[in-house]
Amino acid sequence: MRDQVHIVGGGITGLFLAYHHTKLGDSVTLYEMSDKLGGVIGTKVVNEGLVELAANGVLLTDEMKSMLDDIGLSPVFPNKAAKRRYFWTNQKLSRLPISIFTGIRLVFTLLFKKIKFNENQNFETWACQMFGTSVTKNIIEPAIGGVYGTRLDSLQAESIFSKWEGSGKNTILQELKRNKTKTYGTVSFPKGMGDLVSHLVQYLEHKIQIKTQFQPVNLKEILTWKGKIRFSTSLKNLIPILGDLIEPNEVPNLLSITTITRFGKNHLTKKPCFGVLFGKNEGIRALGVLSNSDIFPGRSQQGLHSETWIYPSIIKPSDSITWESILEEDRKVITEKEDSPKAVYVTSWSGVFPAYDKKLYSFNKRLDSLERQWLSNGIDIRFLGNYRKGIGLRSIFESTSRE
Ligand SMILES: Cc1cc2nc3c(=O)[nH]c(=O)nc-3n(C[C@H](O)[C@H](O)[C@H](O)COP(=O)(O)OP(=O)(O)OC[C@H]3O[C@@H](n4cnc5c(N)ncnc54)[C@H](O)[C@@H]3O)c2cc1C
Repeated sequence: MRDQVHIVGGGITGLFLAYHHTKLGDSVTLYEMSDKLGGVIGTKVVNEGLVELAANGVLLTDEMKSMLDDIGLSPVFPNKAAKRRYFWTNQKLSRLPISIFTGIRLVFTLLFKKIKFNENQNFETWACQMFGTSVTKNIIEPAIGGVYGTRLDSLQAESIFSKWEGSGKNTILQELKRNKTKTYGTVSFPKGMGDLVSHLVQYLEHKIQIKTQFQPVNLKEILTWKGKIRFSTSLKNLIPILGDLIEPNEVPNLLSITTITRFGKNHLTKKPCFGVLFGKNEGIRALGVLSNSDIFPGRSQQGLHSETWIYPSIIKPSDSITWESILEEDRKVITEKEDSPKAVYVTSWSGVFPAYDKKLYSFNKRLDSLERQWLSNGIDIRFLGNYRKGIGLRSIFESTSRE
C-alpha cells in the first residue's frame, strides 16, 4: 500500500527523502517555506566562473550513482592534480605533516588501540589521548576542523562518530571496516552543485506534490496530519518548531560560517592541488581553502584561478574589517607575496552548522526518545538532516534512504 508522506523542508535532505520515498512508490507532499528548493545548496554563475554557495562536492557511492542515473545527471570527476592535498602546519605546506616515528605509532594505534569515548572530554583532549599530540595537532585538527566548521576543542568525538561502537570493544580499524561503504571520491556536476538540486527537482516535480512558500504551521497542527511526517528543516529552524518540548539548556549550539570564493591570476600553491587545511594557532584564521579550478574542470573563466576559503564567521572582529582583507592577509602568509584578486564573492551563513558537541549528542538522544514516544501513540515522525547522522551530503543521502 502506498504510504502518505509529508516532508517539511525542501533543502537537499527533503529532496533526498522525497526521492527515496518516490522510489518506494509512496505518495509524497513536500512543504518548503521559501520560494526555492535546495536550501543552502546552490551555484551562482558570475563573469569569472562558478561560485558555490555551500557544498562544493559530494562523496560518490554506488547508491548515489544509481540516483544520478535516475535523475539524468552525470558527475564531474576531479582532475588528477586534486589528489594532492596539503596541510599547513608549523608554518609550511606539507602533504604528510608527521615524522616517520609518529607515523608508525599512528599505524599501531589504528590497529591495536580500542576506541573508548569519554563524554566529559572534548575532541581535542580525546584525540590527544588516543593518537598523541603530534597527530592531533598536525592532522586531525586541520582535517576535522575544515569539515565541521570549528576547532577540535568545541567538538566531541562521540557526537561525530555516532555510528561507532565506542565502549572499548573495537579498534579503530575494525570500526572503519564495519562502517565502510565503497566510495568513488568527491564529485561535482557540470553546472556545479546547483545542478544536483535542479535535476532532483525536475525528476520529482511530476511525481510528488511540492508546496513552496508554505507558511510554517505549528507542531500541534502537524501532529494531526495523516501519514508519515518527516522533518527535514535545518537544525536552526527545527528548534523553534519544537518549542517547549526542549528545555532551554537542551538547545544545541549552532555555528556560523563564511565562505569566500576568490578569482585571481595567481595560484595559491606552486603545484595544483585539492586545497589546504589549516591547523590551530598557525597564523591563519581560515579553516581550509579549496582550489576549485584545480579540482574540477570548468570552474573558472579567462584562465583565472578559483579558490574557496572557509572561515568561522566569529573570527571577523568588526564591520570595519572586510572579509577580503582577512583573506588576503591569510593568503600572504602562505605565498609570501602581495596579490590582488580579480573578484571576490562572500557568502555568510548564520547558524548553518550544528556544533557536533556534547549538547548535540544529548539533543539527538532527546529527538530519538520523542520519535519513540510519538510512534507508541501511532504518530510516525522522524527528524532528518545534517545534525543527525553526519554533516555531509553522503551521510544525509544514506540516512534518508534508511529511515
Ligand atoms: C559552506 C558550506 C560548505 C559545505 N560543503 C560541503 C561539501 O563540500 N560536501 C558536503 O557533502 N556537504 C557540505 N556542506 C554540508 C551540506 O551542504 C549541508 O549539510 C546540507 O546542504 C544541509 O541540507 P538540509 O536540507 O539539511 O538543510 P538546508 O539546506 O538548511 O535546508 C532546509 C530547508 O528547509 C526549509 N525550511 C526551514 N523551516 C521550514 C518550515 N518550518 N517549513 C517548511 N520549510 C522549512 C528551508 O527554507 C530550507 O530550504 C556544506 C555546508 C556549508 C554551509
